[in-house]
Amino acid sequence: MKILLMGPPGAGKGSQSERLVKDFDLTSISTGEMFREAYRNGEQLGIEAMTYIERGELVDDDITNEIVRKRLLRKDAERCFLLDGYPRTVTQAEALDGMLKKMNSCLSAVINIVVDKTAILERMVGRRVCKQCSATYHLSFRPPKVRGVCDQCGGELYQREDDQLESVQNRLNIYETKTNPLINYYDKRGILKNVNGMQSFADVYADIKRALRDIT
Ligand code: ADP
Ligand code: AMP
Repeated sequence: MKILLMGPPGAGKGSQSERLVKDFDLTSISTGEMFREAYRNGEQLGIEAMTYIERGELVDDDITNEIVRKRLLRKDAERCFLLDGYPRTVTQAEALDGMLKKMNSCLSAVINIVVDKTAILERMVGRRVCKQCSATYHLSFRPPKVRGVCDQCGGELYQREDDQLESVQNRLNIYETKTNPLINYYDKRGILKNVNGMQSFADVYADIKRALRDIT
């Protein structure tokens, strides 16, 4: 099963993918996470990517396509994977098609989490992430048991630089112009499944599972 999880920033892709990868035994491929990890490790790629990320802009298509191409070649991505946050432009979607074709493969389904703008803003501004294991929390909707501390590994929680209000607005505008067209791109192929993201974590998850029921 090769799944792409779509939706605006803050829709709940990361939160849902944490559970999906466990339940369906999928390899998680999140470009945002890969960039942040490269930055934490002091890699040149991460340092360059962070100059875009901090401003709420998209990282260059060529750089992004290249890290995904390399990632897809690894053994654990051969059979099942879940893409989160990639592709984000039509150029990236076409590049992904090319990569998968070379592997004699294709996407099984595209899940699009639909949320309204007010919820997005609230979700992004209240998001907190573990520095150590990247688990995601929300100050109001999913608070950790102990304030500022990750339930899973005890790591310190922080607010992402790009979750500050100024970057958030920029990211939403970019989503509208560059990423939104992908909904039509995948709908035309008949693999798009819209899921109502304006529900509890559990209900969104149940709807995603339902959407994936007939997919192998
Ligand atoms: P994305 O990966 O799409 O950017 P996240 O999964 O990181 O989004 O979610 C953004 C924020 O919204 C997080 O703080 C998360 O805890 C919260 N969130 C996600 N899904 C829901 C939901 N269904 N209800 C309430 N809050 C949610
Ligand atoms: P995310 O963790 O998915 O919210 O991504 C965080 C940031 O990483 C985005 O706002 C972009 O700056 C960058 N990024 C992640 N994925 C991509 C992508 N597919 N193309 C370009 N930039 C990306």
